[in-house]
Amino acid sequence: MQKGNIGVTTEDIFPVIKKFLYSDHEIFIREIVSNAIDATQKLKTLAGKGDFKGELGDLKVTVSIDKEAGTITVSDRGIGMTAEEIDKYINQIAFSGANDFLDKYKEDANAIIGHFGLGFYSSFMVSKRVDIITRSYQEGAVAQKWSCDGSPEFTLEECEKADRGTDIVMHIDDDCKDFLEKQKMEELLRKYCHFQPIPVAFGKKTEWKDGKQVDTEEDNIINDVEPLWTKKPADLKDEDYKEFYRKLYPMSDEPLFWIHLNVDYPFNLTGVLYFPKIKSNLDLQRNKIQLYCNQVFVTDNVEGIVPEFLMLLHGVIDSPDIPLNVSRSYLQSDQNVKKISSYITKKVSDRLQSIFKQDRPDFEKKWDDIKIFIHYGMLSQDDFYDKAKAYALLKDVDGKYYTLEEYQTLVKENQTNKDGQLVYLYAQDPESQYTYIQAAKDKGYNVLLMDGQLDTPLVSMLERKLEKTTFTRVDADVIDRLIQKEDTKRELLEAERGDKLSSIFNSQMPRTDKLDFHVEAQALGEEALPVMLTQSEYMRRMKEMSRLQPGMSFYGEMPDMYTLVLNTDAPLIKQVLEDSEAETTDRLRPIEAEIKGLTARQAVLRQEQDKKKPEEVTDAEKADLKKCGEDIQAQQKLKSDILTEYGKKSDRVHQLIDLALLQNGMLRGEALTRFVRRSVEFIK
Ligand code: ADP
Repeated sequence: MQKGNIGVTTEDIFPVIKKFLYSDHEIFIREIVSNAIDATQKLKTLAGKGDFKGELGDLKVTVSIDKEAGTITVSDRGIGMTAEEIDKYINQIAFSGANDFLDKYKEDANAIIGHFGLGFYSSFMVSKRVDIITRSYQEGAVAQKWSCDGSPEFTLEECEKADRGTDIVMHIDDDCKDFLEKQKMEELLRKYCHFQPIPVAFGKKTEWKDGKQVDTEEDNIINDVEPLWTKKPADLKDEDYKEFYRKLYPMSDEPLFWIHLNVDYPFNLTGVLYFPKIKSNLDLQRNKIQLYCNQVFVTDNVEGIVPEFLMLLHGVIDSPDIPLNVSRSYLQSDQNVKKISSYITKKVSDRLQSIFKQDRPDFEKKWDDIKIFIHYGMLSQDDFYDKAKAYALLKDVDGKYYTLEEYQTLVKENQTNKDGQLVYLYAQDPESQYTYIQAAKDKGYNVLLMDGQLDTPLVSMLERKLEKTTFTRVDADVIDRLIQKEDTKRELLEAERGDKLSSIFNSQMPRTDKLDFHVEAQALGEEALPVMLTQSEYMRRMKEMSRLQPGMSFYGEMPDMYTLVLNTDAPLIKQVLEDSEAETTDRLRPIEAEIKGLTARQAVLRQEQDKKKPEEVTDAEKADLKKCGEDIQAQQKLKSDILTEYGKKSDRVHQLIDLALLQNGMLRGEALTRFVRRSVEFIK
């Protein structure tokens, strides 16, 4: 028997393995099974070239558990190893600069294993002793048994082994006993070896017999050795893709469509990406894209490899050209990875484009489900925007779809304002914005539906990208001013009546920290409703954005700003005005006369002072003018107080305000109950 120390150059590798690789212990099974598969494939290659002339026979890899002995054994019938090869490949492991590296990557077992080529040694993460029993495929080779108990010391001796190939026997540590559970091991094998290219058998298939589950003769093969992505797209039917999807994500709805990736230059990559039908956010967290390297599962964290907006897709990517033994930050700067990421973006975009072109009705049918991906992409990547603008759709409130260009053509004629800006009108909630939508439609305007999760930032982005285009929600203003076609002048008389109405209605507007109302009078025509609430587009949007962007919380704390628009053409409003005049005229007349006098005097004083040079105006004169201004204000306050007093008493005013609130779903609680009571009184 030969004894020796493993060729570790700097320090003892075992404490390192155990200490640092705690998080991902389970990947030892991937490493050991992968080695067995590699050895098997090497033998197949040799046979193919004629360098191995024996019988290949059944080449499956077997994983077995002996609970009593506390061992997991992985057996293959591959090339095996001679004593020299064991010495070369197992005993001599380069292991320099370990400390620095480990400090940097202690969380990432993949990086450590890759960096040091520790594949086989990862078995020591879970084992107190590992035996290799192996016989080389070469003629006349003698079987060898290598054994090591986790110290740098190993033993190597000749032994008996009937068959060619290798058994790796892992004597599992006491604190890793759960790996000896059948169910746990099967789960791990399915996770890591699901699509490896050589059959992996784990026990026998079971069947239900005489009231219990019993083993059959048939091997329980864990893997699909020819997964869908390795096949030619031309040989596959839709059903194949759907079936594969079910295999990957058994709990999910059928995917909307898929993209088969297949490149071999300048990098190697295959895979299938699915556009999922997303039922809830949970699907996004659970079903992730899986990354494989030559059919060996590596991770389901594809950050840095797949562009962020496509990380929400489902499926698999298989590439031997993605460096796995590096940190994520390094990965993102890798040239190959950059190329892979932009290749994937391009493929996805091409596919969307081709569905759009070939089957627009189908594309429209899927639009609501896929728009979140497309919008996300357009928002986060300029190069994707440039491609997607050709097929990204806008949907109107009647469910019709338009491309950006089609929409522009549609509304150009009727929705350009006096400044040459194209105004796109939209609604976020067709139910609660019904009246406003209707008013816009009556004007011949089109109204878009913007109810998606990403529509708020999208609207801002489109305003930046599209020329001379503004988006305005239908309730941002009264219909005539939503798309202003000409300058309107308010007549003096109108202004005065408007101010009166403002004072009257202001008296009863709700006052809270969260809401801010402003009252305004407008001649909107006899047909229009007497009262209406509008909400400033700018403030509303800033607030919506603030919910998405933490840095903008300032806006989030501002109150919601509304304008109560009174239609001075509406009979009811006219009536309020007449009534108020009848009731307040006696008291207002002297005040108004006073204001008139004061205003005239103010004008004269101003004129006189304007004629002089500033330094010639005396202090007394200045004080005079100032006092005059103050007197006007005082009188106006008196006037407004009288109107407020009137407004407060008026049930009609109250009722009209409540109607406007009600129409916007803002009348709740006690205010709503009082409204109902008052309404009952009116009916009586
Ligand atoms: P890697 O697989 O990255 O080369 P490992 O530490 O996993 O590193 O394995 C080292 C070497 O040991 C392999 O390259 C291979 O030559 C040999 N080896 C490991 N397992 C087997 C096996 N089951 N059959 C034959 N050779 C093996």
